[in-house]
Amino acid sequence: MHFTHEHREIQKTLQRFIDEEINPHVDEWEAAEIFPAHEVFKKMGNLGLLGLCKPEEYGGAGLDYSYSLAMAETLGHIHCGGVPMAIGVQTDMCTPALARYGSDELKRQFLAPAIAGDMVGCIGVSEPAAGSDVSGIKSVARKDGDDYLITGQKMWITNSLQADWMCMLVNTGEGPVHKNKSLVMVPMRENGKLRPGIEVAQKIRKIGMHSSDTGLIYFDEVRVPQRYRLGAEGQGFIYQMQQFQEERLWCAASTLASLTNCIQWTIDYAQERKLFGATIADQQWVQFKLAELKTEVEALRALTYRACDLYVNGQDVLELASMAKLKAGRLNREVPDTCLQFWGGMGFTLENKVSRMYRDGRLASIGGGADEVMLGILSKLMGIAKTPVR
Ligand SMILES: Cc1cc2nc3c(=O)[nH]c(=O)nc-3n(C[C@H](O)[C@H](O)[C@H](O)COP(=O)(O)OP(=O)(O)OC[C@H]3O[C@@H](n4cnc5c(N)ncnc54)[C@H](O)[C@@H]3O)c2cc1C
Repeated sequence: MHFTHEHREIQKTLQRFIDEEINPHVDEWEAAEIFPAHEVFKKMGNLGLLGLCKPEEYGGAGLDYSYSLAMAETLGHIHCGGVPMAIGVQTDMCTPALARYGSDELKRQFLAPAIAGDMVGCIGVSEPAAGSDVSGIKSVARKDGDDYLITGQKMWITNSLQADWMCMLVNTGEGPVHKNKSLVMVPMRENGKLRPGIEVAQKIRKIGMHSSDTGLIYFDEVRVPQRYRLGAEGQGFIYQMQQFQEERLWCAASTLASLTNCIQWTIDYAQERKLFGATIADQQWVQFKLAELKTEVEALRALTYRACDLYVNGQDVLELASMAKLKAGRLNREVPDTCLQFWGGMGFTLENKVSRMYRDGRLASIGGGADEVMLGILSKLMGIAKTPVR
């Protein structure tokens, strides 16, 4: 992948925004267990950062996916995982299907304000009883005249306390589990309050990603016009699988800078900290471990860039995107864990940047498809597992 002058300029603008408007507040937002998404998104919208690959007629920049990837990479310079994840939900997880399959009315009502930073979106796939097995979701949209009445629960929803709308996967019919689902745009609020039938039942406390508000949301006969469905009825599972490809590429790209920073912070510390008449960095074991980790991160970069190149060229990247997501999950455990060890007791303190990465990075092996889900996809594509790839 070749970063042009335009890619670099976007990265510079975002880096300045991170340095001035995000990193100075990260500790405060982590402590509050929420960050002001509307305020941050509005400023990003004003800079044109929330719709790089979205159509120009809805306020986007109409660029190709490599720009989204360049942005995801720079987001890795934020000193926590929660804020970049929330931004990634807005740009690459809850809006791709809307941009691809939404009607003009839906794109004006939901996409344009998301790109401008006037609305916060969320993606509602997971439920208490179905996460990895997306086909097993139970939420139902029952037809009532021209409307759907939606009943069910969505769990682990990022931006859930602040979202103005949800791109929600629901069962809209009977029949085979891969053909009975639709993606429906659900407005969450009316006059600033949650709409009738919607309840944010619980803000979930977590070991990491503290600045991100994660919630359990109940839906009880929530009325939504049927024309708020994206694309054809019954195609939601397929659309969501397509949407996952961008989520997984985003996930891999967003970890490249944070993993690299984690290694560099550790080198800086190891060169200062003295023991046994030398520094920690003077130990060959430490040098070799850090060199090994840097090599692994560069391998992930090469894999992610290659997947992105093919994706931009219109090819199917299910295999490479799944590999990149898997490798990102693995490295988000290995790199912070190894680095934390070299910080000794300092690495075990809450305020330490590496310990935050150790906690936040753990999600990469679980969210957006666990490592085992990626391995399942790869096994099928390799012809080892007998079930065909859905
Ligand atoms: C902080 C956070 C934010 C999230 N944000 C969102 C969001 O915005 N929207 C949304 O829809 N979801 C979101 N999720 C949900 C996330 O995508 C799910 O947690 C994830 O898909 C795993 O589902 P689960 O938690 O139900 O685990 P389960 O499906 O119960 O799986 C548990 C474990 O089983 C193992 N496993 C799974 N499948 C297989 C297999 N085939 N073979 C072997 N082992 C397997 C894995 O180790 C997996 O971790 C979020 C989760 C977290 C924690």
